[in-house]
Amino acid sequence: MANGNAETAKVTFWGTRGSIPTPGRTTEKYGGNTPCVSIIYKDTNIILDAGSGIRNFGLEVMDGGLGLDNGNLSMHLFVSHTHWDHIQGMPFFVPMYVEGNKFIIYGSPKKEGFLHKILSDQMDADYFPVGMAALAGDLSIKELSDDKLELGEVVVDWQEQVFHPGGCVRYRFSINGKKIVYASDVEIDCMFNPRENTPDLEKMTVEYMEFIDGADLLIADGQYTDEEYESKIGWGHSSIPLVIDVAHRAKVKQVALFHHDPIHSDKFFNDLWAKYNPMYLKKTPQMNVFWAREGLTMPI
Ligand SMILES: [Zn+2]
Ligand SMILES: [Zn+2]
Repeated sequence: MANGNAETAKVTFWGTRGSIPTPGRTTEKYGGNTPCVSIIYKDTNIILDAGSGIRNFGLEVMDGGLGLDNGNLSMHLFVSHTHWDHIQGMPFFVPMYVEGNKFIIYGSPKKEGFLHKILSDQMDADYFPVGMAALAGDLSIKELSDDKLELGEVVVDWQEQVFHPGGCVRYRFSINGKKIVYASDVEIDCMFNPRENTPDLEKMTVEYMEFIDGADLLIADGQYTDEEYESKIGWGHSSIPLVIDVAHRAKVKQVALFHHDPIHSDKFFNDLWAKYNPMYLKKTPQMNVFWAREGLTMPI
């Protein structure tokens, strides 16, 4: 494995952009591909979402650069939800076309059956030249349940996220004493800064805080500035300063602000950093906050 230390998980961001791919000169630093993150620990290979970023991940796998055994792969793909930006890359994920590779695709119990239908429908002849049957790898779809889910030494927990249109799942991976949480596509403002009353709100906020508590890495929806958020209430995405504040209260160690708005250019991020950076620098204990950047690999 290309991972320098076999005891650390290797987290790689392949796509960090929300909503729609945004290639071009103004996004080349933080990236234009839609969500995809890989977590590799020993023999356990995890993929979070199949946005357009999964294409480059697949090409590196095929290239042998990641040291994975193509033709004999075993991968676990966790789909947070089926909005287009989280599944649109799957038909371009070349390892799925290779016989002998094995994939288990996980999704919300509310979406199973349905999940298979959506993934195959996007490869219908009206949208794509080859159907799902062209994927020669061994694919299976598994409904998430309350049963304990362990992949090798990785323990997986999940929760439904209510505050996103159509629903969305957040995932937590406990690996060798470390915790990585993937919680994209959620409007946490509805929980921590509610404008209207929602039943069970207190229970939901407690669940969220417990889920992210002490995480070594939280990959969090941070699509809007606080000013932008005011005109996007109910769209299912969070405001950045609130994400930073809540993560700090939960003693999170590192926050990757993720699911960038398509309109945010590299320059915009750099300018925004000057505004938000002091907000968390003042906080003790210190927490590391950064914009998730396509191509970034980090050991956890
Ligand atoms: Zn999204
Ligand atoms: Zn979404």
